[in-house]
Amino acid sequence: MKPFDYSRAADARTAVATVAARPGAAYLGGGTNLVDHLKLGVARPDLLVDISRLPFDRVEELPDGGVRIGANVRNSDLAAHPLVRQRFPALAKALLSGASGQLRNAATTGGNLLQRTRCVYFQDVTTPCNKRAPGSGCAALGGYNRYHAVLGASEHCVAVHPSDLAVALSALDAVAVVLREDGELRVPVAELHRLPGDTPDRDTVLGQGDLITAVEVPTLPATARSAYRKVRDRASFAFALVSVAAVLVVEAGTVREARIALGGVAHKPWRATHAEQELRGAPATEDAYRRAADAELAAAEPLPGNGFKIPMTRNTLAAVLRGLSEPDPQERR
Ligand code: SF4
Repeated sequence: MKPFDYSRAADARTAVATVAARPGAAYLGGGTNLVDHLKLGVARPDLLVDISRLPFDRVEELPDGGVRIGANVRNSDLAAHPLVRQRFPALAKALLSGASGQLRNAATTGGNLLQRTRCVYFQDVTTPCNKRAPGSGCAALGGYNRYHAVLGASEHCVAVHPSDLAVALSALDAVAVVLREDGELRVPVAELHRLPGDTPDRDTVLGQGDLITAVEVPTLPATARSAYRKVRDRASFAFALVSVAAVLVVEAGTVREARIALGGVAHKPWRATHAEQELRGAPATEDAYRRAADAELAAAEPLPGNGFKIPMTRNTLAAVLRGLSEPDPQERR
């Protein structure tokens, strides 16, 4: 492991100024992803600024009925919070489907959003990987690509984003509050992560030193239902093959509002805008749900190892929407 300096941030502005001024510096939160990367040689910072004791550890109700989640709130605490369980069951379920209990006790809200892909080649420094070593190639294109992207990929990278939380927050129209040297900005979570293009080494739109301090989730319409479903190889401690987060409003048998995000299929949480458009004003029927899924998946380009993701996404999306329009207690937990 490359040696690095360590400092504990006294306050957020000092942390931002320190990391912004030093290109080799990185933030340390829960460390559940970064520490692995330090050991593997994937991340080689020369300074770690520890932000884990900054006072971003509260979940607060917003005036509109939404919630503001501090970036240092642990995943397990957030999943158990009464406001989240009552008003945003999709969020609680996404959190509980991620990682293991032990990891959820350490992982933070901000860190979860910024975790990096679990592409096996990204984590193996002996293989070509444009995300880890720009210009070196992409071993996944001709290799093991069962877990990889079917939407929005490029010839430079076909990795997927691994966060369950980010998928749920994207469907919930959440906003990340970001502190940078010249002030604060608000970035919709749906726009936080990037598609790979020819610069897959950049996961997000954030710049050096930008620090997520909170995430705000606006209230949902009174009649909205939300759900999160994850399909994976085993029941726990596995990343998504496909996941679906959805918010649905159905009135008198007609879909009035639909917000959908897909996980496990793209370099970022994939907001399914084509499916949403297809659903608004449509009858709340199985046929309409499958037409919406087809509209979203028309642009899908499977790799040799992951063609199964297209019917899997179609079936999972239809099942989630069906569950939300014909309420099933399993979907709403
Ligand atoms: Fe690297 Fe992306 Fe290719 Fe995986 S898919 S090897 S992360 S460039």
